[in-house]
Amino acid sequence: MGDPRGFLKVRSRREPAERPVEERIKDWLDVHAESGLQDWTQEQAARCMDCGTPFCMSGCPLGNIIPEWNDLVRQGQWEDAYHRLSMTNNFPEVTGRICPALCESACVLGIHQPPTMIKNDEVTIIDQAWDLEYVKPLPPERLSDQTVAVVGSGPAGLACAQQLTRAGHTVVVFERDDEVGGLMRYGIPNFKLEKGLLDRRVKQMEAEGTRFRTNTEIGKDLGWDDLRSQFDAVVVAIGSTVPRDMSIPGRDLDGIHFAMEFLPDATRRVFGKQPIHDITAKDKHVVIIGGGDTGSDCLGTSIRQGAKDVTVLQIMPQEPTKRPDNQPWPTFARLYQKTSSMEEGGEYVYSTDSVNFVGSEEDAAKITVSDNTQTEGFISDGNGHVTGLKVVSVAPGKDGPFTRQPGTERVIPADLVLISVGFLHPDTETLQAQLPVDLDGRGNVARDDAFQTSQDGVFSCGDAGRGQSLVVWAIAEGRSCAAAVDRYLTGCTELPAPIVASERPMALPRR
Ligand SMILES: Cc1cc2nc3c(=O)[nH]c(=O)nc-3n(C[C@H](O)[C@H](O)[C@H](O)COP(=O)(O)OP(=O)(O)OC[C@H]3O[C@@H](n4cnc5c(N)ncnc54)[C@H](O)[C@@H]3O)c2cc1C
Ligand code: SF4
Repeated sequence: MGDPRGFLKVRSRREPAERPVEERIKDWLDVHAESGLQDWTQEQAARCMDCGTPFCMSGCPLGNIIPEWNDLVRQGQWEDAYHRLSMTNNFPEVTGRICPALCESACVLGIHQPPTMIKNDEVTIIDQAWDLEYVKPLPPERLSDQTVAVVGSGPAGLACAQQLTRAGHTVVVFERDDEVGGLMRYGIPNFKLEKGLLDRRVKQMEAEGTRFRTNTEIGKDLGWDDLRSQFDAVVVAIGSTVPRDMSIPGRDLDGIHFAMEFLPDATRRVFGKQPIHDITAKDKHVVIIGGGDTGSDCLGTSIRQGAKDVTVLQIMPQEPTKRPDNQPWPTFARLYQKTSSMEEGGEYVYSTDSVNFVGSEEDAAKITVSDNTQTEGFISDGNGHVTGLKVVSVAPGKDGPFTRQPGTERVIPADLVLISVGFLHPDTETLQAQLPVDLDGRGNVARDDAFQTSQDGVFSCGDAGRGQSLVVWAIAEGRSCAAAVDRYLTGCTELPAPIVASERPMALPRR
């Protein structure tokens, strides 16, 4: 039982302090100045009302037992808190840092006060648990004679592998990159998620018995059909990596890249590795098309690399600052929130559509814009470098979602353009050729509610089946998929299954 008067005594919410902007943009370390246990953490945890119906738990796809660990934080009972938390979450050090906290949107206190600091409690518990050495490898007591191949080492593949290893199966994780972690490793920048956190967890998994094969692309280095014949079950956890493109004139100019060509290079450089695409924002006018989380990560990265200026374009208007009527409590509300990268610089331009890329000043002059049509008359030699992006303001339209506003066209100078307008579906080319599983209407791997694909013994979890989502959903999928694989292999399971494959969030932040 929490402190029944806690929320009356402490009415305001306290966020962990960030390092000064001028200091943090000179390095790639976590933007926060405060992490782990602070003198205000327990007082903040006491604001949890321990509601009879904890809506926060239904907001969290993992079903984290939030009121219980909030109260254990209040009392400083770190070992108990750690055990409660690790019952439902394999990687709280990740979600406690980068989850958009769907739970806090559903917090009952949030109806009339700022919500409880649930996410911060989560990260404090796990940071304390590592510091106090409560986190130990949990190898299985007995081994089954069953083998599982997990393809992809993002949060879905890793959660699935950890659960199945602990259940006694022999699990090998295959990863085409040189390091384990998926988008947690090479998508999300180090200043949001330091990579040492992943290395520490991978060591724990290795000590439990999970085996890792990096630099191994299934479909090229080893066939999907070979893999299926060598293992008793296969889990496809390959993420949703095919980016949405922009088919506007001038797309073939140099200097226009997808966000996920730019971000991995930046992280590779931070760790002294050879970049793959060799893209940098240094001394460039950068334009980022797409203002979701990925766009924000591109902004923080461009600033740290020394961009001359950065403009982030968003076709949608700026989000509201208060819950609109169509996003009522306890759903996740898409509200305006300044990310740490937005505080560091750059300009966000809302309600703005991209018309065409510009390769020279003469090109810009030749362009005409008409309502809701592509630009006519764009001329590019196809070999030049981008120099700008022609944009136009938009307003909600009667014939479509947006109407271009005549007379608002202008060219934004750009010598690096980063396209960050989402992802279509997983890259299933070799999978389809070698082990043809059914796809759904959007190109994701189709599965039944128990994560089984159309091929016997082949399962799929994470963004590969769900489409681009969140780390917390990927972990929930990985855990449920592990339970389904365990049942397939042994006829029964005691592994938890927090969600079914068709379960959908009420709303999601934009990628
Ligand atoms: C830039 C960016 C920022 C994000 N920020 C956040 C955030 O702040 N908070 C949040 O909750 N979510 C965020 N997300 C979303 C989140 O990272 C994903 O939803 C999550 O990582 C999906 O996990 P996954 O395991 O399904 O796939 P992934 O993390 O994509 O991992 C899939 C892995 O499979 C590997 N793979 C693919 N094909 C093969 C093959 N044939 N053989 C071997 N390996 C293969 C890939 O190399 C990759 O490592 C972000 C996404 C992006 C792109
Ligand atoms: S994983 Fe996300 S939604 Fe769940 S408790 Fe943690 S911050 Fe909240």
